[in-house]
Amino acid sequence: MGDLYIDGAWVGAAGGERREVVNPFDASVVTTVDEAGAKDVDRAVRAARRAFEEEEWASAPVRRRSDLLLEVSRLLLRDQEEIARIETADTGKTLTEARIDVEDVSNAFRYFAEIAGKDGGRVVDVGPDVLSRVVYAPIGVCALIAPWNYPLLQASWKVAPALAAGNTFVLKPSETTPLSTIHMLRLIEEAGAPPGVANLVLGSGATVGAAMTEHPEVDLVSFTGGLSTGRRIMAAAAEGPKNIALELGGKNPNVVFADCDFEAAVDNALNASFLHSGQVCSAGSRLLVQDTLHDRFVARLAERAARIRLGDGTDERTESGPLSSAEHREKVERYLEIGRSEGARVVCGGKRPDDPALARGFFLEPTVFADCDRSMRIVQEEVFGPVVTVERFRDEEEAVRLANDTRYGLAGAVWTSDASRAQRVAGRLRHGTVWINDFHPYVPQAEWGGFGLSGVGRELGPTGLREYQEAKHVYQNLRPAVSGWFKG
Ligand code: NAD
Repeated sequence: MGDLYIDGAWVGAAGGERREVVNPFDASVVTTVDEAGAKDVDRAVRAARRAFEEEEWASAPVRRRSDLLLEVSRLLLRDQEEIARIETADTGKTLTEARIDVEDVSNAFRYFAEIAGKDGGRVVDVGPDVLSRVVYAPIGVCALIAPWNYPLLQASWKVAPALAAGNTFVLKPSETTPLSTIHMLRLIEEAGAPPGVANLVLGSGATVGAAMTEHPEVDLVSFTGGLSTGRRIMAAAAEGPKNIALELGGKNPNVVFADCDFEAAVDNALNASFLHSGQVCSAGSRLLVQDTLHDRFVARLAERAARIRLGDGTDERTESGPLSSAEHREKVERYLEIGRSEGARVVCGGKRPDDPALARGFFLEPTVFADCDRSMRIVQEEVFGPVVTVERFRDEEEAVRLANDTRYGLAGAVWTSDASRAQRVAGRLRHGTVWINDFHPYVPQAEWGGFGLSGVGRELGPTGLREYQEAKHVYQNLRPAVSGWFKG
């Protein structure tokens, strides 16, 4: 049995190639999986096209699709522990976090099951002789491309609405973290998806991902990943042109006013910066602290950051795991060098840990850079590692100006006990999600996505379903008559 799921069968790659999947905790090989090529992508896309045109999937009663999604949601919880362990081995994240991810994935399936078919469109009042309706139809074949930091979660934000809307899809997880996604496709199969509706290909972005975005039978490309890949994908989709949705990176400001709840703000700043070793698109990696609180805040943050227990994600005492790969750690280390050379001051961390038990894994110490300013690359570019930069601000006006001084716009937070100020600042922040006195929570009912370079379109919420639908106007003349436009 192969690892690619094409047209309802588990098959090997046409080229016979395989790829090693590496555990970032100790660089051991977890397993090997089939590595697809353009031929496999072509088969998968054609299967998805056939299923869209021929299977009674797009036109089936909506109940059938919601039942399938609900069943997947249930099966995910049945297999929660197994999937969480797979995700930890693949990404290095802690089991606690991986378990929560599986719950969140299950919730995403349930949410889209619940809203599928809820919005039957609208009737447009044209007059007594016309019945005019706007309805929502599936788009067709969707190419779904996911990243490695939240492999299953990010895939589910695409798969669940794509199915809810009646589309068929070809999904590609990151080549470095395919295992939980393979498991999810098994569950979609078990739940009874017809052959060709859900397809899985594995492999590199340059080969498999590019073949997906360029394929003429693909109607929509939905991508989550880095900015430069997003640009490439948008250019490839322009050839179609195809519908496109992009969830890209962020450089997310966490704004702390002096009147905040000090311990809660420090604790959440820690979480914002170092959860999953900072490999979170919405990580609060840019901390802005009001002058009068700055020194005390940074000292406490650094004291706590230095105490974060790094280790094996399967060890329940571990608070943070390694970075996802050797190459990614090297990229983050280059940013540590850049930060130092730009004059940022390392308050804690800044290097690999000394603990010999961690020597084989791709670990870096949680790092706090103080004395930062917005001219620095370390402040403006997404590092995607356990690194937070701290800047000072004087007043509300300056806080807003600094927080919006980024070309990204995914998420941001404001910490204050002044409710009016909280709302004023939240209203002015140019970011897709704004948290007040919190960091990181999201719910499937609310849209997720970015302003600026953080992306195009939205996932989750009703808009997250719309991304997978075409609006269609059905206009019926109830009194057909000769129009008399042409006289001859
Ligand atoms: P990446 O861009 O390197 O890869 C993402 C996916 O795209 C992978 O599956 C990869 O194989 C594929 N890919 C690479 N080149 C491709 C090409 N030319 N054509 C088609 N597909 C291609 O990103 P990553 O390193 O896996 O993920 C980290 C990035 O993802 C960060 O920038 C992070 O901020 C972003 N991210 C954003 C969100 C969000 O919701 N906005 C969520 C998670 C991650």
